[in-house]
Order: sequence, then structure tokens, then C-alpha cells
Amino acid sequence: MTTQKGSTRDDLRFIIIGAGMSGILSAIKLQEAGFDYSIYEKADRLGGTWRENEYAGLACDVPSHLYCYSFSPNPDWSHRFSPGAEIQQYFLEVANKFGIDKQIKFSTEITRCEFENGRWQIELSDGSTDVGDFVIAATGVLHVPSYPDIEGLGSFEGETFHSARWNHDFDLKGKRVGVIGTGSTAIQIVGALIEDVEELTLFQRTAQWVSPQENPAFTEEEKADFRDHPEKMTALRADIAKTFAEGFANAVVDANSPELAMIHDVCVNNLESSVQDADLREKLRPDYRAGCKRLIMSEDFYDAIQQPSAHLVTEGIEQIEKAGVRTSDDKLHELDVLILATGFRVDRFMRPMEVIGRNGLALEEAWKDGPFAYMAITIPEFPNLFMLNGPNGPVGNFSLIDVAEMQFGYIMKLVEQVRTGACNEVSVSQPAMERFDAERKEAAKSTIWQSGCNSWYLDANGVPAVWPWTFDRLRDEMDNPRFDDFDLV
Ligand code: NAP
Repeated sequence: MTTQKGSTRDDLRFIIIGAGMSGILSAIKLQEAGFDYSIYEKADRLGGTWRENEYAGLACDVPSHLYCYSFSPNPDWSHRFSPGAEIQQYFLEVANKFGIDKQIKFSTEITRCEFENGRWQIELSDGSTDVGDFVIAATGVLHVPSYPDIEGLGSFEGETFHSARWNHDFDLKGKRVGVIGTGSTAIQIVGALIEDVEELTLFQRTAQWVSPQENPAFTEEEKADFRDHPEKMTALRADIAKTFAEGFANAVVDANSPELAMIHDVCVNNLESSVQDADLREKLRPDYRAGCKRLIMSEDFYDAIQQPSAHLVTEGIEQIEKAGVRTSDDKLHELDVLILATGFRVDRFMRPMEVIGRNGLALEEAWKDGPFAYMAITIPEFPNLFMLNGPNGPVGNFSLIDVAEMQFGYIMKLVEQVRTGACNEVSVSQPAMERFDAERKEAAKSTIWQSGCNSWYLDANGVPAVWPWTFDRLRDEMDNPRFDDFDLV
């Protein structure tokens, strides 16, 4: 079925993939706008990354009053940086408040989407089908665990789990615990476990800069004040957003910015003043600049790693054996449990779902050299399909919720072209995609992420797969789509 251009379309139907932060946002906004939609979630609960990650010490390092929807502030955040379980609860409550939870089709994975006769034909894991004019892929970034390729991993006779597959049935109290990795996740785990375990061995391949963090609790009076004066939450949110944008997100895209130099000094001072033993201090000192890897903020990591029960191991891992981890100095570190805080496969996005665009083009083929998307949202030849927080999307440590809200506003401006009858199909043009990618790669060269370290921000060719411009530019682009860059069919 093809629709005549020129006629207004108020019957547009949307398919939302995923009920995490971005999917819930999409459902709320589409519902408000009066559009028909279905939202599918492969798991049996909503929450995305906050459902998947339940590790000890989990918290968000974006302040809670910014890490929430602008239209649904929460007066009850317990801390400046609230724990993961509270964030997950927030999403459950918001979904309930807006009546979204009843719309979500849980335990239903979309296995295939094909653009046929001007609409998206959807196939689901239960064998059923659906159809929509638009697809919103709210499939997240940090959700497919990355398991390390270490010889003998399967031979360990103790308990092993990835940080995003936490085994709550296994009591870590009094155990000899090994943690592989020193990313944001591992650092939080170490701080949370150190008091309870008999020994904690942290296997560090690369040292991390750690910025100090203060995490005060909100008092009952402050919460009551927020409840009575919601405008105070709005003002606080704007304040934090400004600080984050100016002090960090705008700075990381210019490796020579004075703000980055200051952040580096803060981290050096934190290391110098917190770690007493000179050997340990040098082992913890990175050989690259602060901000190159995702900056870690922690109020307890340096304390934890200096406890007598903590051991920092910097020798490389040779292999894993029945009893523990053997390092390159031939030492066997005997363990009861091994926690793999080894991150995520960040290039998956919508996959393994099969996505077929115009003229039978498979996404797997389009992305054979790596995932890309114009503005992190749209791909040539995949009309009326939009991603939230898609490829090259992360904006230096900024709240992904704010970014998703801006991206959704952008998508609605594109949808408006179809709704008002200006066209039936909208996707970025091939030349615009190529120009955008060339500009993105060029801009990435002067960012801190390309200043000499390895991280999940880099793609297979070592190019930072992130938004390489300022936060202000993101806001401008999202507010003002360049319609000339689109094929409006
Ligand atoms: P990550 O930053 O990708 O860190 C993975 C760690 O595992 C790295 O230290 C890496 O070492 C190590 N590793 C991987 N394979 C290894 C191997 N074969 N042998 C030894 N070490 C190995 O993952 P993450 O810590 O889960 O964090 C991912 C992202 O999630 C963060 O950057 C952040 O965006 C988000 N996050 C945020 C928070 C928060 O808000 N506080 C908390 C957790 C996660 P190398 O450095 O040498 O590669």
C-alpha cells in the first residue's frame, strides 16, 4: 500500500523496539501526540541497562536530577548520584504513571523488520507479525556483555559471572573474589565489596584516572521542598546540565581545552593525596591523559584498594585455571569467584535483529565495515527507521536521557514531514551521510578520546565512535534538522 503524497496522515503507526530509557520515552511522547504505537521488549521487565546491570555498587555518575526525564522530575532521589536500583524503580514508576507499562509486550523479541511497500513489516519471536509506518529502535548501547578471550576461562571451578549477569544467589561474603577490569563498573564493584569479602584481587590491564566524587544524601526536608516546589528541580536540572556541558561535554571534544587540563590536575591530585604507598600509587597511575577513557568518578575506590584485603595485580593474565588466575609472573591467584567487569560489545545496536531496508538491503551488509548513522539517528536506504542513542551518539559523559529527549524531538520533526503529506518516506541521503561521516571523523581527531589510549569509545579503526562536537552543537542540530540532507520520497 502506498499513500498519496499531499494528504495529511494522522493514522501513522509506530513500532518501538525496547522498553528501556529511550523506549519508555518514545512511548510516552507518541501517546501524548496521539499516535498509535506498539512497544516490544525482549525481556520480561522494562528498564534496559538498569534492568541488566544489578552489580554491587551500581550507581549512575550523572547526578540524579539530570539523569531523569525533564518532564518527570523525581523529588525522592536519595542521593546526588543515586544507586541503580533506585533508577530502575524510577523507570517502573514513570512507565506506570504514564500508563506505558500496560502497553509493553514483554518477552517478545522482534526478530526481523523489513521495509516493504512503504511500511515496516515486523516479525516477532512468538511467530506473530505486526506492521508500522515508522520504527523507533530504542535498543540501547551497553547491553551485550563482552566476555574476555582468556585461555581457560571455562576451566575455573569457582563461580564466574559477568558484571551485567550478576549472580544474586551466590553469597560473596567471606570469599576470595577476583575482578577483571578497571572500567566504571569494576571500580564501583571494588568499592562496594571490599568490606564484605575475605580478599579482593583486582586484575588491572590498564590504570584509570579517578576523579573524586562527593555523594551526599538528600535530607527529608530537601525532598519535601522539591515536592512542594517542582520548579526547584527544574532549576537544579538546568544548573547541572550547564555545569556538565560547559565543564565536560564541550571540553572533551577539544583535547587542548583548559577544562581538560584542570580535570587532569584534579585526578593527579586525587591519586597523589589518596594513595600512600608509592609502589601502589605508581601502579595506579595511568600513562595517558584524564578523559581519554571514560572518566571515572569515585569516592571510595582509592580507600578500597588500600585495604589489607585488597590486591592490585598489574601483571598480565596468562590463563585461567581450575583454582584461579595465573599471571605472567607465573603466580596463581587462588579464588572462589571471578567477576568479569569486562564491558560491553558496543557495536551491536539493533543486532542480532535482521533489518532489511529499501530494495532488500540488509543492515548487516550496510554496516559490514562498522555501524554508522547520520546524527546517530538515521541510515540511508532505511526510511522511516530511527535510532535513539545510535552509532557515534554518546556525548561525553552527558545524561543519555537528555540526549534521547533531544533526538526524539528531532525524529518528530522528520515524522511531521510524513504526517503533513510532504512525503511518505524519510531517510538521510547517501551524500549527506558520507559528508557527515567525513566531518565526524575529522572532528574526532582533536578530541581527547583520540589522544593515546584504548577504550570502548574507539571503533575498530581507532576512530572515536562518539559525538565529536560540542553539546551546544548537538542541541542546535537537534533543534534545526537540515532537511536538504534527507531523501523525502
Ligand atoms: P569498560 O569501560 O569497557 O571496561 C572494561 C574493562 O575490562 C577495562 O578495564 C578493560 O581493560 C578490561 N578488560 C576487557 N577485556 C580484558 C581482558 N581480556 N583482560 C583484562 N582486562 C580486560 O566497561 P564497564 O566498566 O562495564 O563500563 C562501560 C561503560 O558503562 C562505562 O564507560 C560507562 O559509560 C557505563 N557505566 C557507567 C557507570 C556509571 O555511571 N557510574 C557505571 C558503569 C558503567 P582495558 O582498559 O585495558 O581495555
